[in-house]
This record gives sequence, C-alpha cells and structure tokens, in this order.
Amino acid sequence: MSFANCGLPYHIGGDIKDRSKLLLQTPESFLARFNVDVRVMNEVVSINRADKTVTIKNLIDGSKYTESYDFLLLSPGAAPFIPAIAGIDNPLTHSLRNIPDMDRIIQTIQTNKPKHATVVGGGFIGLEMMEHSTNLV
Ligand SMILES: Cc1cc2nc3c(=O)[nH]c(=O)nc-3n(C[C@H](O)[C@H](O)[C@H](O)COP(=O)(O)OP(=O)(O)OC[C@H]3O[C@@H](n4cnc5c(N)ncnc54)[C@H](O)[C@@H]3O)c2cc1C
Repeated sequence: MSFANCGLPYHIGGDIKDRSKLLLQTPESFLARFNVDVRVMNEVVSINRADKTVTIKNLIDGSKYTESYDFLLLSPGAAPFIPAIAGIDNPLTHSLRNIPDMDRIIQTIQTNKPKHATVVGGGFIGLEMMEHSTNLV
C-alpha cells in the first residue's frame, strides 16, 4: 500500500539494490501499527455529499459498495505532466511516478542497453534521474 517514491531513482541507479526495500507497508502492517483500515484496489467513484457517503468500486471483482464518512479528505495524488511533444509516445520514453514505471524503465535499460538518455524537466526527480544515469551507461 505504500512505497518509497523517493527511492525509485536510487533503485534504477543501483544505490538501493534490493527492490523489496522500496515496499514499506502492507494494509495488514498498517492496521496492526496504527489501527487504520486501508483498502487497496478500491476506487472512490462518487461522493454523495447529501448523505455523507462515498461509492467505492472494488477493482478486483468490479463490485460497488457505499461507505459513510463524518469528514472527507481528498488526497488523490498527481500524475506526471506529459507535454505534447512530437514523438513523446515512443515506447523508449518514460515517466517515473510509481513502482510499475520504475520496473518499465529498468526493463527498457536491460533490453535496449542505451548509451545515452535525455531527461526532460529539471525538477528534483529529473535531476535525481540525471544523477543516477551516470551509473547506467
Ligand atoms: C520519483 C519520485 C521521487 C520523489 N522523491 C521525493 C523525496 O525525495 N522527498 C519528498 O518529500 N517527496 C518526494 N517525492 C514526492 C512524494 O512522493 C509525493 O509528494 C507524495 O507521494 C504525494 O503524496 P500524496 O498522498 O499527495 O499522493 P500519492 O502518493 O500519489 O497518493 C495518492 C493515492 O490516492 C489514490 N487515489 C487516487 N484517486 C483515487 C480514488 N478515486 N479512489 C481511491 N484512491 C485514489 C492513488 O492511487 C494513490 O495511491 C517523490 C515523488 C516521485 C514520483
């Protein structure tokens, strides 16, 4: 249920060797430690403000159910901004946000053995990828 986003570039670069070190908590461990009921693979698909409920879809079996709330916090995260640059849909072009993204980047590197990489965007994540790309070639 939670992973170390901050460690993704470091696993790609090889500083964090063990992939399992990126996986921090499970719903069971979070429940035992904090008494918090975390439901992975459950997507809130509507908010019913009048009766203070949310409708939830179980992404494994497709069923839907309703859950009540006293207060509702929205924290659905973000997705990488993909600029409309010609050729950006090339399968060798990646963004890095989560573990599946990281696995795809590693797979691409292992399969294609690139000698050169270009990072578009010089924020923290772009700079960390630059830092680690020196380990890859
Ligand atoms: C590569 C990388 C490196 C980073 N490094 C650092 C760092 O070194 N230091 C630092 O402080 N920060 C770092 N960050 C940023 C940090 O990871 C994010 O700021 C943080 O994860 C944001 O938390 P969040 O809860 O807002 O969103 P998220 O972690 O994205 O969590 C949102 C969750 O909401 C779920 N969700 C969305 N919609 C629904 C819905 N309708 N129903 C149910 N669930 C839903 C999503 O599936 C997701 O699990 C890094 C991020 C990345 C990608």
